Amino acid sequence: MAADGGERIAIVGAGLAGCLLAVLLGRRGVPVTVYERRPDPRVSGAERGRSINLAISARGLAALEEVGLRDRCLKLALPMHGRMVHPPVGATNFQPYSADGERAINSIGRADLNRSLLDTAEATPGVTLRFSSRVTGVDIDAGTVLFQDAPAERADVILAGDGAYSAVRRSLDLDVDTDFLEHGYKELTIPPRDGEFALDPDALHIWPRGTSMMIALPNLDRSFTCTLFWPKDDFAALDTPEKVTAYFERHYPDAAGLMPALLDDYAHNPIGSLVTVWSWPWTRRGDGAVVALLGDAAHAIVPFYGQGANCAFEDCIEIDRCLAETGGDWTRALERYQERRKANTDAIAEMALDNFIEMRDRVASPVHRAKQAATHALERRLAGRYVSRYELVSFSTMPYARIPARLRRQNLVLAGAAAGTAALLALTARALRRRR
Ligand SMILES: Cc1cc2nc3c(=O)[nH]c(=O)nc-3n(C[C@H](O)[C@H](O)[C@H](O)COP(=O)(O)OP(=O)(O)OC[C@H]3O[C@@H](n4cnc5c(N)ncnc54)[C@H](O)[C@@H]3O)c2cc1C
Repeated sequence: MAADGGERIAIVGAGLAGCLLAVLLGRRGVPVTVYERRPDPRVSGAERGRSINLAISARGLAALEEVGLRDRCLKLALPMHGRMVHPPVGATNFQPYSADGERAINSIGRADLNRSLLDTAEATPGVTLRFSSRVTGVDIDAGTVLFQDAPAERADVILAGDGAYSAVRRSLDLDVDTDFLEHGYKELTIPPRDGEFALDPDALHIWPRGTSMMIALPNLDRSFTCTLFWPKDDFAALDTPEKVTAYFERHYPDAAGLMPALLDDYAHNPIGSLVTVWSWPWTRRGDGAVVALLGDAAHAIVPFYGQGANCAFEDCIEIDRCLAETGGDWTRALERYQERRKANTDAIAEMALDNFIEMRDRVASPVHRAKQAATHALERRLAGRYVSRYELVSFSTMPYARIPARLRRQNLVLAGAAAGTAALLALTARALRRRR
């Protein structure tokens, strides 16, 4: 306990989850110190090739709404109403995300979103931001946060939002699996052409190529940030500028001519890794402190459903809710939080892995297009009773873990209805034959 009797709360990581949680706690009148390893990104700017656009959807927006940031963030974002699929030859085709074509996911720069959250956290009474403070671990028996270049600091409650490679997580004795995809990612840029977007800004563009793909999301400055998701060996194989140019002209012909900085970006932008983190438990109590993981630190997922940040924001809302429900008893609140969230984050982790195959492969096939058209037709006909998986993940706040069961149920009903219709048709045909 601190000298004034209040608990000392430390948040590790001033990323998306750390900042939102700091704002929520500050508003609840709980003072909190946030330790961030980087210098203030509002002063120092972003790292090369690590801009990352996020698709923020219903869950993220609902969480931002809680702290009054929804509209401010939407002003920094561009709506994308569907996927624009670019085949190697032939015309592009647009696949709307929702049956009515009205719903959109929102492309926002991660750095812009982080800056908004940092501004809000800084302006929230009780929140202290400490930049250039690299945490190396925690000692929950001593009740301390440990730093690379500074003495340890006391904390009674430690909330770790320090990302997929969490130092806090590594310093605890937890059950952790980190599954790396053989694919990595690299960013490229399509700048504006004659001051305008070079592609339709109302879509998430996909170049599906079987085992790999490229996507492009629009930015407010009328550029697109492209991300290649390729097996890491494929990146290494293009080891000369000539090979890079030839490869892009062959496999991404309509994009290659829109990328004047392709060779420079390809040579200098880093290759990121794609990891799923399965960890449990997320909370531990020691003699001196209780600690909990949240966001990517607890459950990093691959980005193919555009849900990592949305899901991290839901964690923050749940922690805040559990704290209110338990009357400020941190140990009980954090246990309740992990119990409620784990099945949900496991479910979205599985769906995100599955969606990689859909994006890099299935979206290109005519069968997929026909299936999607049929799904949207059913959604229109059976409004509210038949809802696609994409809709439930991206445009609803239904707990992720309930989605697979809901889909199974509605498919069973549909299969039953189809079988019933077929039986009825067979009976009618037989009756007609008898009458003749
Ligand atoms: C290519 C790509 C595309 C993505 N697209 C989407 C998308 O479309 N939609 C979506 O919702 N999500 C997307 N995501 C996922 C999303 O970026 C993450 O889920 C989200 O950023 C998680 O937030 P977080 O706060 O948990 O972690 P982070 O945002 O990683 O923040 C962690 C913070 O902790 C700090 N930190 C790390 N270590 C330490 C330390 N030792 N000491 C102190 N501070 C530390 C970091 O500097 C950082 O500020 C994507 C991810 C990738 C890689």
